Amino acid sequence: MVAPSLDKITSFTPPQRTLMGPGPSNINPRVLSAMSLPVIGHLDPAFAGMMEELKVLLRYGFQTKNPLTYPISGPGSVGMENCFVNMVSPGDKVIVCRNGVFGGRMIENVERSRGIPVIIDDTWGEPVDPNKVEDALKKNPDARIVAFVHAETSTGCESDAKLLAQIAHKHDAMVIVDTVTSLGGCPVLVDEWELDAVYSGTQKCLSCAPGLSPVTFSERAVDYVTKRKDKVQSWFMDLNLILNYWGNTARTYHHTAPVNALYGLHEAMVMVKEEGLENAWARHTLHHQALKAGFDVLGLQFVVKEESRLPQMNLVTIPEGIDEAAVRQELLNEFNLEIGAGLGPLAGKVWRVGLMGYTAQKESVILCLSALGSVLARKGYAVNAGAAEAAALKVYAAQK
Ligand SMILES: *Cc1c(COP(=O)(O)O)cnc(C)c1O
Repeated sequence: MVAPSLDKITSFTPPQRTLMGPGPSNINPRVLSAMSLPVIGHLDPAFAGMMEELKVLLRYGFQTKNPLTYPISGPGSVGMENCFVNMVSPGDKVIVCRNGVFGGRMIENVERSRGIPVIIDDTWGEPVDPNKVEDALKKNPDARIVAFVHAETSTGCESDAKLLAQIAHKHDAMVIVDTVTSLGGCPVLVDEWELDAVYSGTQKCLSCAPGLSPVTFSERAVDYVTKRKDKVQSWFMDLNLILNYWGNTARTYHHTAPVNALYGLHEAMVMVKEEGLENAWARHTLHHQALKAGFDVLGLQFVVKEESRLPQMNLVTIPEGIDEAAVRQELLNEFNLEIGAGLGPLAGKVWRVGLMGYTAQKESVILCLSALGSVLARKGYAVNAGAAEAAALKVYAAQK
């Protein structure tokens, strides 16, 4: 891209897109209005009150009583790093499950925290194999932590977080769990599943702007971090310092909170509470079923087996002879519709169609089926025009 010349630059107006990729998803207008409210000081008592409410709302979202539940100032990746730098001390052995992109990033985080990763690989598109985790723990009785991704956005696959946590605890290991794509889209039951250090993101199923990462730490995890003898290598992320800011009501300055972004998350979480978590999960499932009915008619095959398929992230294989990038380009240019490309071993082989948060609604499903059907038809792929939309509508009709 050629650098634009300064004298030609004016205000930026983004196009209106339907975001059905791996995130960000569309943002509810209520969240956008909340973000445009006047800024106040981040030590203002009114702001402190909002923060206390936000912690309560996030505890509801995570289904936890953990006192240390708060939003980190930074995207999901910072939430990930936060969990690793606090939970992993130099020399610690960490079992890392990799069945997609984000498991790979966890390995990076262990290494950068000077830990020793023990890597368990599973095929992309399949869940983490609990037997391999159990074997690794038997072979490495000194492993302190098991880290895994609950909902792998790169593959659309869900792993059994409850079972993996049970196995880890049986061997006296804590768990670090990535719930960036699962929170708000399918059950994440932090207390019932006994998860220790959990991070998420705002821009996937919470219908909020990118840039914040809700996290929650079990008492056991907090106990570990507060008793650590060595200094956590990151000043910004050290929970021992953050505790004085988010942890109690007598706040001391740590960093300037992203005030307006937090208004947005507060509103997004109020909306989750109004809808009810169970209803939000059911909504993601319903629209996934409608999309699937349409994809079946279009002849698009799902990559992940039904029992571990995530409703909010649908991976389908690309039909023979179709230029996948050209299709995505046309969807964007002609229909203002974004869908995602495959990553790693799935690059060029799949599309990733997200149905997250505010995007998980009937209008997105019908638009996607009709736009994709029309673009595929133009590229010479036999499509029964209108039949995919009809199949989706049938799923909706059956709900009433
Ligand atoms: C998106 C995502 C992240 C990273 O979140 P960012 O907000 O992009 O930093 C981490 N893990 C998973 C599973 C994700 O889908």
